Amino acid sequence: MLLKIFQVGHPALRQQARLLSNDEILSPDIQRLIAFMRDTMRDAPGVGLAAPQIGESIQLAVIEDRPEYLKALPQEILTERDRSPVPFHVIINPQLTIDNSHSARFFEGCLSLSGFTALVPRATAVRVTCLNEHAQPVEIIARGWHARILQHEIDHLNGTLYIDRMNSRSFMTQEKCRQYWNDKPISQICSELGLE
Ligand code: ZN
Repeated sequence: MLLKIFQVGHPALRQQARLLSNDEILSPDIQRLIAFMRDTMRDAPGVGLAAPQIGESIQLAVIEDRPEYLKALPQEILTERDRSPVPFHVIINPQLTIDNSHSARFFEGCLSLSGFTALVPRATAVRVTCLNEHAQPVEIIARGWHARILQHEIDHLNGTLYIDRMNSRSFMTQEKCRQYWNDKPISQICSELGLE
């Protein structure tokens, strides 16, 4: 089943999501919700979907960066973004630790801000401790694009959107991004947009 993805302005996107208990995680309701969120993310398509985006104020998100998404991109973009396939996984009640002080900025989008994009600085290496869909504790060590996805989705669970972290002068439609900016190096984009 496909779920409705709420757009920016919906109050659920600005709430602090609540923790899930182990019993709740293992319940048929949450197991079904995880399957529906996976289907909805793949249909969009997107590389992550957090429960507040479909109106559930709980600390749960799904993530997947499929090999076919990467095939459409030139190798230099994949290298620059440090992006490689990430198998489907579920994060529940996550705790995020920034693993290095280095950050990188790239255009980032969100299924709840349909049609828009902006440059967002993010840490390039993170560590996440959380529960998986079997309520087992896991530690995820991630860098590059996976680290960015994790930061984006965990922000959702705390009521934060990328527009709260973006370089606001770079906010634009995805159409205009493709038309004018996508092919340029980030340093040139920053210079032309008047960003430091
Ligand atoms: Zn998002």
